[in-house]
Amino acid sequence: FAPWNNPDEKPLIRFKNVTKKFGEFVAIDDLSLDIYAQEFFALLGPSGCGKTTMMRMLAGFENPTSGRIELAGQDIAPVPPNKRAVNMMFQSYALFPHLSIWDNIAFGLRRDKMSKDAIEARVAEMLKLTRLEKFARRKPHQISGGQRQRVALARSLAKAPKLLLLDEPLGALDKKLRQDTQFELMDIQESTGTTFVIVTHDQEEAMTVASRVAVMDEGRVIQVATPAEIYEAPNSVYVADFIGDVNIITASTKAIGQDQYHLNWIEGQPPLTATSALPFSEGQQAHLAIRPEKIKISTDRPEDAPNALQGKVLDIAYLGNLSTYHVELPGGQVIKAQTANTRRIARRDITWEDPVWISWSATAGVLLAQ
Ligand code: ATP
Repeated sequence: FAPWNNPDEKPLIRFKNVTKKFGEFVAIDDLSLDIYAQEFFALLGPSGCGKTTMMRMLAGFENPTSGRIELAGQDIAPVPPNKRAVNMMFQSYALFPHLSIWDNIAFGLRRDKMSKDAIEARVAEMLKLTRLEKFARRKPHQISGGQRQRVALARSLAKAPKLLLLDEPLGALDKKLRQDTQFELMDIQESTGTTFVIVTHDQEEAMTVASRVAVMDEGRVIQVATPAEIYEAPNSVYVADFIGDVNIITASTKAIGQDQYHLNWIEGQPPLTATSALPFSEGQQAHLAIRPEKIKISTDRPEDAPNALQGKVLDIAYLGNLSTYHVELPGGQVIKAQTANTRRIARRDITWEDPVWISWSATAGVLLAQ
């Protein structure tokens, strides 16, 4: 049982019908959400959807206008920020430039009047955890951006918070370093067992690090699920479109059997066939979301494919491991198909302007009502 599927498990954090208004503006709209101990949880959404506001409410810099936030079953509204078992790591890291790395990490422990020996032990532990032992005596300007990021993490974890909030923690790093650091973050989260809540607008980052992802839009959570569920079974066109690349085919449905539907999409072409456990009524508009890698592309007409359409190659994007084809269909629609370049050289048999067939199975896509 994953904790979120276990009815006996109590969440570490619970948002209960939380609304946050700034004046008349509703930044968080009647939002409910549970996050469990030891999760690496990601809040994902476009700029302005309310991710940072959620973090600030957890940290205690803002309070909800209505509703309630609980930490381990207790309402946190009356608890001031410094008394919460919550720490926040900022994108800017906010390190003290005049203090050594060692002193930066020790700062909060000293303020808490921890004994000298306990501080020594704790700082040593944090330096080891973040592989910064060699840099302990340096100042922040004498280390790299990636190392500074690790100092900020070590400092945030020194007081062993129950919950660590990470606001775009890797935003300042370049792509390669960012990817390496994602794996480090995951290792550190796992070895400390601290609950991490990360805010990011980078969907790949959320999918890489998180045990679960909440996809947000305009102050609401649209879907909460594991990265694989979000990708394979989005609950809406919004989520399907926000995560990765997708084709959306909008057409009216006609039931043709148990969980089987016909979609009348392009005039003069045979209907498409799709499987769906979600019921659709006759003539109802539905959106079929299909990932490009689920669409096959071939020069010959595929045999026995329930969905096969002939088109013309408009564009090919060669991405190294993958190639993406844009295929224009007779009605002017464009479908993206993606193939893995497993051969030494990408397939040469398909090129621009070529007539091709695209095809997919009845279960390749997800049929969505909205
Ligand atoms: P980004 O990814 O750009 O940081 P976000 O999802 O974190 O965006 P928030 O910072 O939570 O978004 O802001 C949500 C909305 O609330 C935005 O429209 C923002 O303009 C508004 N907002 C945030 N703080 C305040 C404030 N103190 N006063 C007025 N409006 C605010």
